[in-house]
Amino acid sequence: MKILRTISDCKQWRAQVSLEKSNHSSPTIGFVPTMGALHIGHESLIKTSRKENDFTVLSIFVNPTQFNNPDDLKNYPSTIEKDLEMAEKNGVNAVFIPESIDQLYPDQYRFKVSESEFSRELCGAHRPGHFDGVLTVVMKLFNLINPTRAYFGEKDHQQLTLIKDMVNSFFLPLEIVACPTVRETSGLAMSSRNTRLSTAELALAPKLFETIKQIKNKEQAIKKLNDMGFLVDYLEDQTHFENDRPKMRRYVAATLGKVRLIDNVEI
Ligand code: AMP
Repeated sequence: MKILRTISDCKQWRAQVSLEKSNHSSPTIGFVPTMGALHIGHESLIKTSRKENDFTVLSIFVNPTQFNNPDDLKNYPSTIEKDLEMAEKNGVNAVFIPESIDQLYPDQYRFKVSESEFSRELCGAHRPGHFDGVLTVVMKLFNLINPTRAYFGEKDHQQLTLIKDMVNSFFLPLEIVACPTVRETSGLAMSSRNTRLSTAELALAPKLFETIKQIKNKEQAIKKLNDMGFLVDYLEDQTHFENDRPKMRRYVAATLGKVRLIDNVEI
């Protein structure tokens, strides 16, 4: 497994891989972008990429431009040794871990990709600039890795939708593959941030998914969550086209202790 630390490492690796032949054509590259502190949710993306492509690249980069809260950035968990073990065990071919922020932002974030509608709703309304940061870093990573397919979790459904829309809008030559949310047996969506929950919070956290699934009335669901000890940022039902069909989905974000949790469910 190759560790790539710089932009030139990435370019070199990518150029070398292009020379390899797969069934007399160019090899396929699957790309899994992450912020590290990997768990089984991330692993499911890696496994799907491995099945569908000749090569799989993982990136681990805690992208500062998508954090509007400095404490959240400072406290973001990091388990790099364990992450590399998981990547190796799953047959990842290369891991891009930029050695500095400047590697990805030589322009100091002077240029950005922004979207003016959906990115301002839900998480975007509560985390100003968040999706500008996400879309910009993902665009940079796509340009560097030049993947055939990139894998994103439905856990971050708004992000997934915006990335699909960006790929369509800029005619980017790759396929976005949506991967189902991996949950604990309790129903709690796996997340790197869950490691920051106390034992008591961890026991309560599964109620988030349970409540958004079970209580149809939005206001009642918000009240129930707030009464239980969550601080609900938003709970909204929205319809979007997914694979050309309208789908109604309920989106939620709520803070428990110091940790902001998000989830969504098709309704
Ligand atoms: P993150 O490291 O949190 O930025 O996540 C990297 C990728 O993993 C994103 O596409 C996430 O949507 C995806 N992901 C995170 N948690 C889960 C999960 N529980 N199930 C499926 N995908 C996930």
